[in-house]
Amino acid sequence: MKLEALPAAKGNHNLEDYQKAYDQFDWSEAEKNLSWSETGRINAAYEAIDKHAESFRKNKVALYYRDPEREEKYTFKEMKEHSNKAGNILRQCADVEKGDRVFVFMPRTPELYFTVLGAIKLGAIVGPLFEAFMEGAVSDRLKDSEAKVIVTTPELLERVPFNDLPALKHVVLVGENVNEDGPYIDFLTRMKTASTKLEIEWVEKTDGLLLHYTSGSTGKPKGVLHVHQAMVQHYQTGSWVLDLKEDDVYWCTADPGWVTGTVYGIFGPWLHGASNVIVGGRFKPEHWYETIQNYGVTVWYSAPTAFRMLMGAGDELVKQYDLSSLRHVLSVGEPLNPEVVRWGVKVFDNRIHDTWWMTETGAQVICNYPSMEIKPGSMGKPIPGVQAAIVDDQGNEVPPYRMGNLAIKKGWPSMMHAIWNNKEKYESYFMPGDWYVSGDSAYKDEDGYYWFQGRIDDVIMTSGERVGPFEVESKLVEHPAIAEAGVIGKPDPVRGEIIKAFVALRDGYEATDELKEEIRNFVKKGLAAHAAPREIEFRDKLPKTRSGKIMRRVLKAWELDLPTGDLSTMED
Ligand code: ATP
Ligand code: MG
Repeated sequence: MKLEALPAAKGNHNLEDYQKAYDQFDWSEAEKNLSWSETGRINAAYEAIDKHAESFRKNKVALYYRDPEREEKYTFKEMKEHSNKAGNILRQCADVEKGDRVFVFMPRTPELYFTVLGAIKLGAIVGPLFEAFMEGAVSDRLKDSEAKVIVTTPELLERVPFNDLPALKHVVLVGENVNEDGPYIDFLTRMKTASTKLEIEWVEKTDGLLLHYTSGSTGKPKGVLHVHQAMVQHYQTGSWVLDLKEDDVYWCTADPGWVTGTVYGIFGPWLHGASNVIVGGRFKPEHWYETIQNYGVTVWYSAPTAFRMLMGAGDELVKQYDLSSLRHVLSVGEPLNPEVVRWGVKVFDNRIHDTWWMTETGAQVICNYPSMEIKPGSMGKPIPGVQAAIVDDQGNEVPPYRMGNLAIKKGWPSMMHAIWNNKEKYESYFMPGDWYVSGDSAYKDEDGYYWFQGRIDDVIMTSGERVGPFEVESKLVEHPAIAEAGVIGKPDPVRGEIIKAFVALRDGYEATDELKEEIRNFVKKGLAAHAAPREIEFRDKLPKTRSGKIMRRVLKAWELDLPTGDLSTMED
């Protein structure tokens, strides 16, 4: 494979810093940046907000919020006061104590952040839920976690089956005209008079912080428990990977319903005292570009699906905005197609830096740093302090370029602490040699870069060749007619499996047999004959999770007439 490298940008750290860190870095070094290493008092919400509110940053803007109806900003001092008020409401009206599970199920608004931070200040474990979840999805998660409190809105309340949830004691409602009958608490009215002083609950490093259910791309979502110690890695990756500096304006587009939206929508930026942009409402290219322009966003963290949609909206649109403030752009959640990286250079004058991690790893682990050369299509290298490898099913490392299990040596600070209520599932992630096995398939090249190939279950065996769906999909989206592609293996008596591609076309292209043939030849010439899809099916849309991941298991189930499994996280 041809490896093209784009020039490196200047960041907080240069490449030598990383080289040195690879050899010598110890996580206890990173810990020294957190106030607890001096005071012994641990709480992630204190560290993210109050610490700055008590420093020279107190009048610095912590949160810029906008949606189609609201535009607001809050300083660190104001964030401290509002989260204290929310904490007082939760403690006094909903009896929240350390270890209780408090779920937030509401649109992205400042109130969501006040309640998340307030609950964490009480030592509660916060479970964020994406606002689009329907009753079944909400109920499953609240039951599994035995949540005591849910914070939601009057509009979403009908999806909370209160009578079916014996552990659920209180419902905090964020909205107008709330009647405080039975379990209901009127959040907005109580905020007006709640005290801005709160006694923080100091915790242990291994006490619960977040309970995140996974995206459900491969099956039923799992409740992944993270603890306060994860902050060490949230902080360090904020410096190494997000490259945050004092005057940065940072924007992470992920919803807090997914791990990226909490770890890098709350902790990554705020542990560094950065100004954080949060945008509510639906995706709209114009609105997004306007956000970058109006706030002067400098560091921008988004996902391949969003970049592909922006690409689809056309280059002319980009030119209507002044995006010159951008200096560092990152991506996570799905493989980042080389085509998208090249487009980023063209229209943003910025390389998009891919980062790989998952709910279970709790923070970024394999990344492209600002100072390193990017090989488009590669997710980068392990960060210092993280040891990764490609191993076979017995836990033995395989040579470069051989596809295998992407594994990480146990012991990084943000590693999940448990799978809620499921010890067996937790243990199933580990292999002899203390390897945590990700479930993703990848290979490593001779320079130590990792190349994602697909989910282990998605890897296709065709005529004796192993083909990763991502390579085929990336080639497909290089074709001018194709907006998005999902590739699966379809059982075949002769070849074991054949490659079938589901393809969504860009506006203005017609779904014809000639186009199918052209696409097949395009992959044959650009990649390999055996990797060209034998079957191509045009679709208006591909099935995706709400966090924007293509659900290949659903494509496969539809194709083979199998049960589709848990669809709670699928888009409409
Ligand atoms: P579930 O575990 O419920 O099936 P999920 O794995 O999609 O859902 P997440 O934890 O949100 O849930 O996503 C992590 C997965 O996303 C990774 O295992 C990987 O497959 C994919 N992913 C994340 N970042 C990248 C990336 N940079 N390149 C390729 N794949 C990525
Ligand atoms: Mg997963």
